[in-house]
Amino acid sequence: MSELKGKVAVVTGSTSGIGLGILRALSAQGCAVVMNGLGKSDEIESVRAQVESESAQPVRFHPADMTRPDEIADLIGFAERELGSPDIVVANAGIQHVARVEEFPPEKWDAVLAINLSSAFHLIRAALPGMRRKKWGRIVAVASAHGLSASPFKCAYVAAKHGMLGLVKTVALEVAEENITCNAICPGYVLTPLVESQIADTARTRGISAESVKRDVMLARQPTKRFVSISEVAAMTVYLCGNSAASITGAALSMDGGWSAL
Ligand code: NAD
Repeated sequence: MSELKGKVAVVTGSTSGIGLGILRALSAQGCAVVMNGLGKSDEIESVRAQVESESAQPVRFHPADMTRPDEIADLIGFAERELGSPDIVVANAGIQHVARVEEFPPEKWDAVLAINLSSAFHLIRAALPGMRRKKWGRIVAVASAHGLSASPFKCAYVAAKHGMLGLVKTVALEVAEENITCNAICPGYVLTPLVESQIADTARTRGISAESVKRDVMLARQPTKRFVSISEVAAMTVYLCGNSAASITGAALSMDGGWSAL
C-alpha cells in the first residue's frame, strides 16, 4: 500500500505534458487528485476519465486560469469541498515566449511572470493553512534548469524560474518545523507540447532548422544528449511527496542530464 494513499493532491497545468504525467503518477499512488489547465473540454474530460479509470481514485477537474488569483483560491476551495484540504500541491503550469529583450512584448512578460511565478505564490498561499492544520504537507514547484542558469531570448521565463527558487526557499524556511516541505524540480529539456512549439519559435528567431534547434541548441546543453522524460519528473515528484523525503526542503533538484555540471 502506497504511503500516499488517501492524500489529496492539486496539480496546476495538468491537462498536458509534465503536469499530466505528475497527476497520473500521484493518482496511481492512491491520491485523490484535482486536474487543472487549459484545453478543449471534451479532450480534458476524456483524459480525466481515463486517469480515474486507470487508478480507480477520484479525479476532479477545475479550470482555474493561473493569471487569476481569485480563481487559484477557488481551485484550492474546490479541492477542499470535493476531496478534502490538499496535502500536496504541485505548481507546474507554465508557458514560454522566445524573443530578444528589446522585442519582447510587455504583455508576454506579464503573462509569463503571472503563470510561471505568481500563480505558485497564490497556490501556496491558499493551500498552506490546510497543511498547517494537518501538520503535514508537500509543495513541489516545477521550475527548470532555467531557474539556475540563463539562455538568450528567454528573459521572462528565466526571470520567473529564478524567482520560483527564491519563493520555494522562503516558504521552506517558514514551514520548516511543521512537517511541510517545499522543493523545486529543475528539469532540463523534456519533449512536451511546450517544447515542441519552442522548437519552431527558436528556429525562426535563430534562423536555423528545427533539427538543428534540438541537436545544437537544446541537447547541446544536456551532456546525456537525450531529453528528460516526463516519467522521470513524475517519479521525482512522488519521491518528494513521500516520508523518505521529509528532510529535503528548500532544495532545487536538478534533473538535467548534466546541464548544471557544465
Ligand atoms: P505543456 O505546455 O505541455 O503544459 C503546460 C500546462 O500548463 C498545460 O496543462 C496548460 O494548459 C497549462 N497552462 C498554461 N497556461 C495556463 C493558464 N493560464 N492557466 C492554467 N493552466 C495553464 O508544458 P510542459 O513542458 O509540460 O511544462 C510544464 C512545466 O514544466 C512548466 O512550468 C515548464 O516551465 C516546466 N518545464 C518544462 C520543461 C520542458 O522542457 N518541457 C523543462 C523544464 C521545466
